Amino acid sequence: MKKRGRFSTRKRNRTNKWMNIIVGIFFILIVASIIFIGVNGWNVRQAIESVRGETEQPSEFQEIVPNPDEHVLTDDEVGNDHQEAKEPEEMPLKKVEEPQITPDNKVKVEPKKKSAPVQEKPSSSIGYIEGQELPDKPKYVKGILIASKQYPLPKDFAPGESKEARAAFDEMAAEALLSGIKLQAFSTYRSYDYQVTLYNRYVERDGQEAADRYSARPGYSEHQTGLAFDIGEVNHEKHWASTSFGETEAGKWLGANAYQYGFILRYPKGKEEITGYMHESWHYRYVGKEKALQIFKRNITLEEYLGIQ
Ligand SMILES: [Zn+2]
Repeated sequence: MKKRGRFSTRKRNRTNKWMNIIVGIFFILIVASIIFIGVNGWNVRQAIESVRGETEQPSEFQEIVPNPDEHVLTDDEVGNDHQEAKEPEEMPLKKVEEPQITPDNKVKVEPKKKSAPVQEKPSSSIGYIEGQELPDKPKYVKGILIASKQYPLPKDFAPGESKEARAAFDEMAAEALLSGIKLQAFSTYRSYDYQVTLYNRYVERDGQEAADRYSARPGYSEHQTGLAFDIGEVNHEKHWASTSFGETEAGKWLGANAYQYGFILRYPKGKEEITGYMHESWHYRYVGKEKALQIFKRNITLEEYLGIQ
């Protein structure tokens, strides 16, 4: 009896020991999970995704990211060229869900950091002239039609897509094709009324301050001139209206060659305070071959070229 009793006590002790170890492990796991989720900003989805190693931003984050371009607005683009069968309503949703910037882990943090100082900079939300009314006539400088945060267009200015610019684009696209690059202008002319719809939609969703960072106010969009072409590559829609386009072969090809066809990169990197817009690697403006050559060679913006900065 004694022996048996001692044996069962030892057994019980051993069982208790194992129970303690198991409970301990569970406790460590739970604490580790809590810490991990905490590190991920108390966002369970983000924590899970970071375990999976996914680079896509959770939607909560996307909404905070200031979209650096006015091209979240591109629903109409698709309608414009009729080459895509997508419903116009699908475009903005899709655009917003896509990471706007290169699918690089680093950018997860970058836009967040940027969003605060951007408000102070004149690069986006500031730049409009307080209380300015839209003019009766468009502004031409040196024969170039200008549309910027300082020089808006009249409400009724509705020239449609420029035929000259389209012809130049077609010529450029044919040349790019020889290098295996299939260019597509996914957004060109946008009417005043359409910009009203888009801008209001973004103000409603993100507030005016945020909307001003990525969307032009009605009358202020260069797309209303019919001379602005948002260019991307066929079958590479994920880079459309995205900073990452600048890193692609097509983006680089355009950067190096567009001037030969009369197009300039309208909002270059580092010139945000002059142009009033963040860098847009896909937004090209037709100014004609001669002027484009000058602007390209001197590595300046349209504002600097026209002396209207
Ligand atoms: Zn554009």
